[in-house]
Amino acid sequence: MKEALKEKLKKNLFINGEWIPAEHYTPLDSPYNGECIAEVPSATVEEVERALQSAYEARKTMGSMPSHQRAAILENLVRLLDQRSEEAAQIIAMEAAKPLMTARGEVARTIQTYKFAAEEAKRIHGETIPVDAAPGGEGRIAYTVREPLGVIGAITPFNFPMNLVAHKVGPAIASGNTVILKPAEQTPLSAYFLAELLQEAGLPPGALNIVTGNGSLIGEKLVTDERVQKISFTGSPAVGKHIRSKAGLKRVTLELGSNAAVIVDKEVDLDKIISRCVSGAFAFQGQVCISLQRIYVHQEIYTAFVEKFVSAAQKLVIGDPLDSATDVSALISFRYVQRSLDWIEEAKQQGATIVMGGKAEGNILYPTVLLNVEPSLKVSCQEVFAPIVLINKFSSIDEAIELVNDSRYGLQAGIYTQNIQTALNATQQLHVGGVIVNDIPTFRLDHMPYGGVKESGIGREGVKYAIEEMTEQKLIVFNRT
Ligand code: NAD
Repeated sequence: MKEALKEKLKKNLFINGEWIPAEHYTPLDSPYNGECIAEVPSATVEEVERALQSAYEARKTMGSMPSHQRAAILENLVRLLDQRSEEAAQIIAMEAAKPLMTARGEVARTIQTYKFAAEEAKRIHGETIPVDAAPGGEGRIAYTVREPLGVIGAITPFNFPMNLVAHKVGPAIASGNTVILKPAEQTPLSAYFLAELLQEAGLPPGALNIVTGNGSLIGEKLVTDERVQKISFTGSPAVGKHIRSKAGLKRVTLELGSNAAVIVDKEVDLDKIISRCVSGAFAFQGQVCISLQRIYVHQEIYTAFVEKFVSAAQKLVIGDPLDSATDVSALISFRYVQRSLDWIEEAKQQGATIVMGGKAEGNILYPTVLLNVEPSLKVSCQEVFAPIVLINKFSSIDEAIELVNDSRYGLQAGIYTQNIQTALNATQQLHVGGVIVNDIPTFRLDHMPYGGVKESGIGREGVKYAIEEMTEQKLIVFNRT
């Protein structure tokens, strides 16, 4: 299968429904073993310009397409992706070093996301306004409709190369917009695979255009071009802030990073929660925006929690992403391995205890567990985006909530507790986009409103919510008198 994929993998730009040879190509290497897996276009500004023009022209076709037809295209896509799901999972595993089992999970979720998009396409509507509620409103009828914005610039990260693309392309098509997609440098193949399927699914030329290559070059053009009505960005806070500062009056949705935390109260049955916590911390090598990075455990059960957690984490299988048995594989690049080792070393120097991991081999960082970590250390207050988790103890829930909130981020937080009052108080006091009670923060279904506060971003995704942000509310008033 891997060999068969490799043969196909010289990719061209996807512009106006055609595969256009690019001026420049760059090799794409596997993060796991450094082997070249494909050659991909590195788009120039002129090529991005072509894509922009094509998306701009296609906006009329998409804007006037009836919703049943938009839904039908997305339904076709769901069927095609379902038929080719194993191939899709292998592409993700190869380009992102995502363990195959996890990649299969991502494909299953991507199918869900497009299914929700197909369904939502049919229920985009406005409301009637009771205009006679105000003096002067008599004899009038008012209602709103939701219109597509036009061209959406979608910029996506490496860590969910299919599903996070789906969270932009699905709602955009559902609501009659066109898209220029700029996927992450390391994961262009998943995006080109989607283009193939959407072409077969009947998407009109120009409705989706894919330009791969340098983030700042392509990103800058999309963010500053007047034909683009909205930037939907998922990625790091640094790039997100830069985009916001350049975007002028464009709409901007930013789905950024976090250092997500869970609180474990004293009466919790540890045997029920340990495997969830281990998977939240180490799934896809911790490269998930809501990865479990900080665990705060009540002092009465702290020692037992640490013992059970470490014992479960030691059973993780480390290795080749294309092997179905692998739980943890390589980080996306050596730069992040080095950064992780530096941050672990800093923690060690400042008194933290390393009870597991703390070392690397090639691009694989071994799952690492740290205890007694001061909140000011980088492994606690920054986003590690690596298989590193800290476990600290607390003596009161108020203290634990303060520790969780002591962060520049606020995407999701979790709390395990048997006490309903504690749970209700926590849902009020935790300053995040989503509170997950009796589970880890690493929980997302694709129709939930999803997004953060503070440096975790602006706006919400989750198909219906993304559609709201990709459409403009227009008011219509009839004077009957
Ligand atoms: P990144 O910010 O390095 O890259 C994201 C995208 O931005 C890439 O396509 C990149 O090419 C592009 N880019 C780079 N410079 C740009 C510029 N100047 N202008 C416009 N675009 C530019 O992020 P990454 O390393 O691919 O992904 C990891 C980050 O994404 C983490 O911080 C993670 O938490 C975050 N993330 C957030 C969510 C969420 O939903 N909140 C989901 C997944 C990942």
